Amino acid sequence: MDKILPSYSDPLFSILIITILILIGALGSYYLSNYKKEKERKNLKKFLGTISVDNSTLDINKLPFETSLISPLSVVAKSFTSSGEYQKAISIYLYLINNIQSFFQKEYLLQELGNTYLRAGFLRRAESIFLEILKKHPRNREVLYSLELIYESLNEYKKAQETLVPLEIMGENIQKLRVNLELSAFLKDSSIQKEERVKGLIEFMQREPFLYRRVIRELFKIDINSAWENLDVDRIDTIIDILWFLPSSNLNFDIISSNEILKSIYTAKGILHIEDSLPKIGIFVIDTINSAQKGGSFNIDLNFNYSCKRCRDNFPISFDRCPKCYAVNTIILNATIIEKRDYIEYSLF
Ligand SMILES: [Zn+2]
Repeated sequence: MDKILPSYSDPLFSILIITILILIGALGSYYLSNYKKEKERKNLKKFLGTISVDNSTLDINKLPFETSLISPLSVVAKSFTSSGEYQKAISIYLYLINNIQSFFQKEYLLQELGNTYLRAGFLRRAESIFLEILKKHPRNREVLYSLELIYESLNEYKKAQETLVPLEIMGENIQKLRVNLELSAFLKDSSIQKEERVKGLIEFMQREPFLYRRVIRELFKIDINSAWENLDVDRIDTIIDILWFLPSSNLNFDIISSNEILKSIYTAKGILHIEDSLPKIGIFVIDTINSAQKGGSFNIDLNFNYSCKRCRDNFPISFDRCPKCYAVNTIILNATIIEKRDYIEYSLF
């Protein structure tokens, strides 16, 4: 034995001991790392099991898994989400996530699963998915933005504000989102009395001019006089639809008659009588209707739709955040001339 092992005083003995210790350390670290990964994988699988789809319309789990399936199935799932077939998309994402071991390989799929739940209106499920992702990857910006949207939709404004903090630290420009949230929280606070509410709304509008449309709309709901008094004549073109649909009882004729733009709008609407002296105001649809009225055509109305500056999608109803890309302050108001509806034509008699 003495001939096989070097003696204690031999430097070779020390090298042998160090080598053995390094090997033990490396093996320990390897098994510990594997154990942690396996534990995380099981935790995630258990977590996903709690949110599995009950009435899946795709029997995808019988399909033998191969890594070559990840890319094409991801594309298929995404197209299901786009076409509103959320259950099918969710089945595919769950199948892929359950069969992929590495978190970093499936982070994108988890994110898409969360987005699909978000689109489908399962906000709490989407929240759970996004929080799972953030446990592993706290700097995932897209997930933080999605989580902010979820909390805003759930009226949990404090949590929504909290998700903006890491985004701001990472250098994201979140100012508009933050102010928008502050206004949403202010509007939802039922303890604020009318006078204080009106004052607060005007302060919001003065501090952040991009909130003009939203604030004016709220003012018309709670204090018509304040709304008229705070109307910005240079930005009337951004609220023509709001003005157009105001009931006659909410109109302030002192203010309307003192401003050519307002006078033209309510002449086009048919509230005021057309005058030959009425000038053009530079708003195409209003000028066109008034020219037609001067020529004797009164059967004209306006129709409104809304588009998003960012994603360019169109929507039939107004929005504060784009329903598709969720951007703030991207609404474009589009007005088109239509024939005035003659309700007598639709009478059953
Ligand atoms: Zn958009």
